[in-house]
Amino acid sequence: MSFSDLETFLDNLGESKFRAKQIWRSVYHEGKESFFDMTNISNNLRSSLSEKISIDLLRTKIFLSSKDLSTDKALFELEDGELIETVLMRYKEDGHRNSRKTVCISTQAGCALGCTFCATGQQGFRRNLTFGEIVKQVLYMRKLALSEDMDEIAKNLRSKGEIQGVTNIVFMGMGEPLANYDNTISAIKILNDPLGLNIGARHITVSTVGLVPQILKLSEEKLQINLAVSLHAADNETRSATMPVNKRYPIEDLINVCKKYVYKTGRRIFFEYVLLSEHNDSEEHAYKLGKLLYGIKCHVNLIPVNPTTQGIYNRTKSTTVLNFQEQLKRFNIPSTLRIEKGIDINAGCGQLRSRIEL
Ligand code: SAH
Ligand code: SF4
Repeated sequence: MSFSDLETFLDNLGESKFRAKQIWRSVYHEGKESFFDMTNISNNLRSSLSEKISIDLLRTKIFLSSKDLSTDKALFELEDGELIETVLMRYKEDGHRNSRKTVCISTQAGCALGCTFCATGQQGFRRNLTFGEIVKQVLYMRKLALSEDMDEIAKNLRSKGEIQGVTNIVFMGMGEPLANYDNTISAIKILNDPLGLNIGARHITVSTVGLVPQILKLSEEKLQINLAVSLHAADNETRSATMPVNKRYPIEDLINVCKKYVYKTGRRIFFEYVLLSEHNDSEEHAYKLGKLLYGIKCHVNLIPVNPTTQGIYNRTKSTTVLNFQEQLKRFNIPSTLRIEKGIDINAGCGQLRSRIEL
């Protein structure tokens, strides 16, 4: 239910609308999983709520932890049998950044965009997730993260004021968030809401394949979130070869809307660039990228390709990656090589689901 649906529901029960805030806070902020645990509402209301509505959680089909215990991956089965994936990644303090726990969430079961290197894309589109299904993935992982924090406090590994839970969210799981626009925005609002999960907007990143009209719309939402655009090539021929969406929204249109986005929001944009050996990783590709992005307030995330089940792409050698980064530096474009996590548990985009189906 949306907040206003909850208010109407309570109104119809003859209850004050004010209760909506309390219930909302109990579910999303405090993570209560039963109305009977909501001690701030009357016994009568608790019973009547539990007769009429329910707090549904996700059903776990598979749960895997990586060997180094830094990454967990869950495959959830939705009410209609659809399968989606969620990943929890733990990062230790590293001198530059504090320790953090990031949840990677899905917005669709499957994806219609068919990028050739992506396991989700190879499965085709099933359906959009509701905003509830998007938020529930975070609720699930937050419970785990909070319980770890408590265990560490008990062992004196953490001081009392240091309960963190989930600190960051990336919309980089299955599906294209901006193709499920309204539910993605509703989910972001609940995640960010102080009465909800209270995760700072600057700690939330939405990744898009590059849907031009939706990026424009997003620039007008007045959200302080991060936007990551999956570029993966700096010329139309190379990009179209792996990303069919490029035929609809070619690079010129995409870069134009990105510039508008930066202008309207004042926020730097992130460009993702999956390195595919001998496809988009040469020195010449790096020059083209540098030229394309020169002068745009941006950051490039270089991503080593994860092997997919039908993978036809190989990884770029580390010397080639370093050279690629060096070329970008010459254009004053900052870049980082994404730290990989969970490779041993198929934590790459859409990979766990495809393993089940094979
Ligand atoms: N649909 C959105 C968000 C989900 S995919 C998008 O495409 O941006 C999140 C990121 O994972 C994208 O940058 C996508 O290109 C990347 N990705 C997909 N398959 C991958 C693979 N096999 N190896 C590495 N990154 C991959
Ligand atoms: Fe869809 Fe993103 Fe995968 Fe492309 S990379 S198929 S847009 S999920």
